[in-house]
Formats: sequence, C-alpha cells, structure tokens
Amino acid sequence: MKNLWTDEGARQAVKTHAENGIGEDLALRVYTTRLLGGEPRLVLHGGGNTSVKTMATDMVGDSHQVLCVKGSGWDMAVIEAPGLPAVKLDPLLKARKFERLSDEDMVNLQRANLIDPSSPNPSVETLLHAYLPHKFIDHSHSSAILALVNQDNSEVICRQVFGGRLGFVPYIMPGFDLAKLAAEVYEADPTVEGLILDKHGIFTFAEDARTAYDRMIGAVSEAENYIDANRRFTSFTQISLPAKIADLSDVFPIVRGAVAAQLGGGRFTRFVGDFRTSPDILDFVGGADIHDYGTRGVYTPDLSIRIKYGPVILPPADGDDMDGYAVAVKTAVADYAAGYANYFETNNNNDDIDRVMLDPMPRLALLPGHGLIGFGRTAKDAAVCADIGEIWVEAVRDAEAIGRFAPLSHAELFKLEYWSLEQAKLAGAKTLPLSGQVALVTGGAGAIGAETAKIFAQNGAHVVVADLDGEAANKIAEAIGATAIGVDCDVTDQAAVAAAFKSAVQAFGGVDIVISNAGAAWQGEIGTLDDAVLRRSFELNFFAHQNVAQQAVAIYKAQGTGGVLLFNTSKQAINPGANFGAYGLPKAATLFLSRQYALEYGAIGVRANAVNADRIRSGLLDDDMIASRAAARGVSTDDYMAGNLLKQEVTARHVAEAFLAQALAERTTGNVATVDGGNIAAILR
Ligand code: ZN
Repeated sequence: MKNLWTDEGARQAVKTHAENGIGEDLALRVYTTRLLGGEPRLVLHGGGNTSVKTMATDMVGDSHQVLCVKGSGWDMAVIEAPGLPAVKLDPLLKARKFERLSDEDMVNLQRANLIDPSSPNPSVETLLHAYLPHKFIDHSHSSAILALVNQDNSEVICRQVFGGRLGFVPYIMPGFDLAKLAAEVYEADPTVEGLILDKHGIFTFAEDARTAYDRMIGAVSEAENYIDANRRFTSFTQISLPAKIADLSDVFPIVRGAVAAQLGGGRFTRFVGDFRTSPDILDFVGGADIHDYGTRGVYTPDLSIRIKYGPVILPPADGDDMDGYAVAVKTAVADYAAGYANYFETNNNNDDIDRVMLDPMPRLALLPGHGLIGFGRTAKDAAVCADIGEIWVEAVRDAEAIGRFAPLSHAELFKLEYWSLEQAKLAGAKTLPLSGQVALVTGGAGAIGAETAKIFAQNGAHVVVADLDGEAANKIAEAIGATAIGVDCDVTDQAAVAAAFKSAVQAFGGVDIVISNAGAAWQGEIGTLDDAVLRRSFELNFFAHQNVAQQAVAIYKAQGTGGVLLFNTSKQAINPGANFGAYGLPKAATLFLSRQYALEYGAIGVRANAVNADRIRSGLLDDDMIASRAAARGVSTDDYMAGNLLKQEVTARHVAEAFLAQALAERTTGNVATVDGGNIAAILR
C-alpha cells in the first residue's frame, strides 16, 4: 500500500490550520486522518478512527489534557478539526478502575467531559484510544489485515507476519471491556508498535503523526505481501453460465422488485440499486463454491449495520428463461429474508434485551455473470453498500486464497449489528414519502416537467428528467443533485423511450412512477385542418403517452411492486376550445388511455391518473401568446392569467403538486385532477 505522507502536505496542513488558530497536533491529526480515510481498503464508510492527545482550553480559560478523537458522523476522508472533538483525558483514565461500565454511562462519561458540549459524539472506540498512552493513534479496518485475521489460526499467522511488533487482542465487542483488554495487551509488552484486533482491525501508534501513519501503511503492506506470497489460487473455479446471459437492464428491475420489503396492502419499502462489476467481482460471484464462502459473513463486524451478515446470492440470469429467473430470484430473496428472521429470533433470545427486528431484506446482491448490486433507500446508501460489496469481495477472496475465510460468528455479529451505539450511526437518515422510489418525467425540462421533477425529488424520489432537449434535461437534473439524472428523449420514438427507461434502470435499478408530461399544441379550424398536422399531434399527444406507458408497465411487471402512471392531459380533453381540435382530440384519447391502464393493470397494483390543467405559463403558453390573448379579450395579462373562479394565476408548481398528490394517494386510480383555478364550463361531470 502506497504511503501518501509528504512533508509538503504536512507543512501545508499545519499552516492552514494555524491561520484558523488550530495547533500543530490537531493539524497533523487532520492531515493523516484524511490520508487514511481516502483509502477504502483501510477505512470504508465509518470503519476506523484516529486520535491525538494534546492540550485544550475550556470556556473559562482553564487548560486541560485532552483526547481529540474522531466524532461520529464525520467522514475521515474529508474530516476537519471539529470532527475530532476534544474530551478531557483525566476522567476517562479514572474510569478504567471500574469493573464494568454500561454503554449509556460510557457515552455520558465521554459527553460530560467534552470541551465543547456541542461536539458530535466521540467514537465508540474512544476509551481504547484513551487507555493507550501514545500521542497519535491510528485505527483502520484494513481489508488485507482482515484477510489475515479472518482465519481460524489468525494469531499464528499474525505472529508469523509481524513477529512481536504488533500485539494480538482476541475478539470482543467494542466498548469499555475491549478498551481495557487492549490496554492490558499493550502493557504486557510496551515495545509493540500497534495492536491487531482479531476479526476487527488494526491499531498503530507513536509519539508523532508520521510514525503512527507509517506503521499503519507498513503493517498493511506486509499483510498484502504475505497474501501475495501465499495465494493458493488467483481465480475461483467457475460455474457454467447459461448460453445467453440476460441483459442487465432486464435483470435489474426483477432483482430490485424482489428485495423491496412488503408492508401489506399493496405497499412496499423500496430501494434503489447501485450496480458494480469488474473481472475480479465476476470471478468471485461466478465461483462454483460461492454459496459456501459467500455466505459465511462479513470481514469486520461493523459492516453488518450496512449489509447485515452478507449478501443474497442469486442464480445466473438465463436470457432464454426470464420467467424462470424471476421465480428463482424471488425464492432466493425469500430464503435470505427467512434466514435473517431466523438469525434474529435465535440470537435475540440469548439475552434479556428486547429488540425489534430490522427489515430482513438484503442490501447486497451477487449476480453471477453480471456483478454485484448495493441497495439503499437513497442512491447514497446504495453506493455505500456497493462500495462495501467491492471491498468485501476482495477481503473474502484473499482470506480464502491464503487459507479459509473464517469470520466472526453470527451470534457475535448479531450483538454488534443490534448494538444501540452502532445503530446510532444510521440515525438521522430522514425518510420521505417517496424515499427509495424512482420517478421518470417526460418533457422534464419544460415548465411543468421541471417543477414536477423538483417536487418529486423534494419528496424523496430519485428522478429521471427526460426531455427532447437533453442538455436542458441535464441542467434540471444537476440542479436537483445526485438523486437525479437527465436523459435525451424524443417520446415519439420508441427506441428513444426504451433508451430513457434503460438509463433509469442503469442509474437506479428500475422505475416506480412515470409522469408522462411531454406535449405540444397545434392549432387550426377543424373543418379545414391539414391531416398531417392532426396526425403529428396524435403522435406526440397520444401515441407518445402510449409508448411511455407501455414500457413503464413492462418494468412494473418485472418489479412486481405495482407502479404509478400519471398523464398530463389538458382542459381541452374535456372542454374543447375553438381551433384547438388538433390538441384536444389526442388529449381526450390520452385521458381515456389513463382509464384503460387503470382498468387493465389495477390488479397488479398499477394506478393510472391524469391531470387536466389550463392556462399555465409555459412553452405552450408563452408571454407573447398571453399578451395576444389578453389583448383579444380586452383584459390585462394578469387578469387573463387569473381568469378563473379563484381569480388567481395557476402555475406549473400547482400542476406538479397535483401529480404528487396522485402519486401519494394510494387508493386513487382512474382519477382526473383539475388544476385550472376553477372553470365551470370545464368541470367534469
Ligand atoms: Zn474498529
């Protein structure tokens, strides 16, 4: 592993921190913490922490010896000084005399001695840092070290690799007891440069930041060298894959639908997926013994709060038998969920703590022939699980290559997965009404489409903004952020619509809500209307909706979790305006189309609704048109726009709100929502 320390980098860190009144100790602590945190093979989404012992001044000017230790919620790769809250060291040291210390008391002790009481909670491994005497302490969950310690003879291997330079601490759960045990192992041989924690990770320490970091990289490199020198094989014996492996875009919605948690009443907790692949992942997931080595567990226990005790292993997707594949996936996921429930029952009954089972659905899926998928309620959470999956594959492969991957038992893992201090790391994740769902909006760069994309994103949905103007769609998506993508899509072109759905599937794993919104208005007196104009309008204002709905339904069927179709019709669909036949006729057909979908797919949980809006400032009704229509009626433009029963202008946001209401109304299908401020002549009857 590459040592990333540079004297220039360290000097720069000291200089910039000094400008903010932060001393050298903390500056260098931030510097090497970032070096460690940027390497996923050392520190992966919260696994690892660092500390420095220094002096700090409290509110009243008294100076204290403190431990600045990583605070929860901070990512080591981008940590700043406030991410290493200062805790008075003396009270922590005094507590070592206790026989036992409950988790609550441990947290209280740490919080009560913070120099700044508004700091985040210090790491759950704070006491371990406190009870070792060194100034700089680095802790990582290095995957190479974990390949060595996830072996039945881990202690022997560690002695062989590190000699007496690293002490060996048998596995116990993090907390007060582990802190005391680690200190005892150190005190038995104070010449050690660090400690190996069996089935957990590695600590290195020194009086200066550079040496502690060098020792970490040195030990990890030695572990890597040992693995390379002792590999019994470089690739797994492979299963034989079907002659035709199905396309990922056909596979992904099936898997995503299978892992959604059933809530009853046609409701689901849905997840978005993040797909990863590489030659190494393919080799691992395609191994003939994947159901053995792939099911033994996780390489370090804190991964369990993300991926439980490991992945669900799916069969390869036979492109010639997708129905059979869908059944096999459902069975594999159901078996996983049943296994998880059993794991919960068995281990929950081992003590008198009363716990509530978390949802039993997998967050990591292995797909022979394809790769792996991480699942989460947000794209960010899905990416975390996929990142973990990638490093887990390496660590398990390496452990298996040098011996036999023997991780922590499920019974021990359970205690950590359900430890309140571990679960607290996930607290604060906000669930919104559409969390885990994916919405695709056509005409997404127009006034109504853009507002709709925004409001769905604000309510937790991941959004695919599809528009004829791909660049404009990208801009809308960029403004929404990481939960949105833009795609270029001519909805009258079946291939383009298929490509847009494919993009949605690749980005998030599927689609749950489609807002078929793209449209344009053509005018002309119906008796003399050019046939080509009417047909063109039907292409966009009717057939394109059918295109979009058909392809959405295909994905909804594959997912098996229902779905929503929302159509933008128009007041013209109900109440014709003179010379607007070319627009109103296809819109009327689209209104009926929504009812046809409601009728034919209600039984599989698909709801179809329409919004008929009128007089919305947009590309279809721009400022020039508003001015000329207002002039024709002899009213001001404001009065023209507010020409309704409520005497208020109706905006694109109001239309977007109606789409959202229909998406959320779980027992509403075949509905038409009028958004026009009130127009008696256009009222539905
Ligand atoms: Zn740890």
